[in-house]
Amino acid sequence: MEKAASESSLACARCGEPALLQCPKCAQLKLPREGAAFCTQDCFRAVWSSHKSIHTKLDKLTSGLTTQQSLEGWKYCLKKGRARTSQLPRFDWTGPLRPYPISKTREVPDEIEKPDWALDGIPKIEPESDLQKRVEIKTSEQIERMRETCRIAREVLDAAARVIKPGITTDEIDRVVHEETIARGGYPSPLNYHFFPKSCCTSVNEVILHGIPDARKLEDGDIVNIDVTVYYKGVHGDLNETYFVGNVDEASKQLVRCTYECLEKAIAIVKPGVRFREVGEIINRHAAMSGLSVGKSYCGHGIGELFHCAPDIPHYSRNKAVGIMKAGQTFTIEPMINAGVWHDRLWPDEWTAVTADGKRSAQFEHTLLVTETGCEVLTARLLSSPDAFPWLKP
Ligand SMILES: [Zn+2]
Ligand SMILES: [Zn+2]
Repeated sequence: MEKAASESSLACARCGEPALLQCPKCAQLKLPREGAAFCTQDCFRAVWSSHKSIHTKLDKLTSGLTTQQSLEGWKYCLKKGRARTSQLPRFDWTGPLRPYPISKTREVPDEIEKPDWALDGIPKIEPESDLQKRVEIKTSEQIERMRETCRIAREVLDAAARVIKPGITTDEIDRVVHEETIARGGYPSPLNYHFFPKSCCTSVNEVILHGIPDARKLEDGDIVNIDVTVYYKGVHGDLNETYFVGNVDEASKQLVRCTYECLEKAIAIVKPGVRFREVGEIINRHAAMSGLSVGKSYCGHGIGELFHCAPDIPHYSRNKAVGIMKAGQTFTIEPMINAGVWHDRLWPDEWTAVTADGKRSAQFEHTLLVTETGCEVLTARLLSSPDAFPWLKP
């Protein structure tokens, strides 16, 4: 018990007498002083068995992280006082969208195998690996695990897509992604990756990518991208899709459909011997035909036992990507197509990338395996996938 210095205005949580003592565990966890102050040791002892559940509730929320670690994780989004709370940081917002508060860190059960950033937010194997320079040819055993993981990632994305409607928050989408992932024995790869605070990315309207799920309710007419990556049996599977919320204007429908087609056309050229730099030419040609621009700051990436590795695959034309595709390689293609300029800006949370002119942006992503004759879309839609896209209806 610590002295609740100069807090004599607080009442004892048991008897209502002036409180002089405070529960040390509550103080350590920075829980509210109300309900954690007591007049005497006797009163504290008398309610201990019910009081202590407050502590374990919080421990569960921070999922095995120490309080300090989880606070550090939050700081990433609260950096330099630019908090993602109801009090907005000063920033030259490019469009109508604003950040909203973020919910507490979600828990991952102990028995789930975790990547090396899960506890402290820092990937260790990934940046040091020689697979940042050399494109790995996967063994048939690795490929089999990739198939399983990518299928799970697809099921998780589909589950998230099913709950989209006006009024639902992106935090609610994150909850679905989190729960559906761990229900299948997987770890949501984005969670705590370089301190990212949530289990998926949700990118609304002018957000290009890496939007953080928060308390904002989706509105009729929004578009929202959900980007899911699952870690299971030691490998990652990564995909995303952009969905319509209620009734969306014609220009947004065109934007999303064109982006979908850009990815389809890029996938169609994938086979051994094709230059990685060709992907950008195909995508740019199709986007430009519709008067749309291609985001340049973020690329497709190699994937497998590492979340992000070689090759880098730019989506724009006249790019400098080196190398050719070979059977057994696995990588993503994930074009970001903008209604206005291609340029992006970063929000003060240092994750959310938005268009510089505030106009809308859409994205689609698949994880692919290069085969002897073409490619296998490891994250392909399933017969059970929700029919989110009118152009896919028979
Ligand atoms: Zn992704
Ligand atoms: Zn990706």
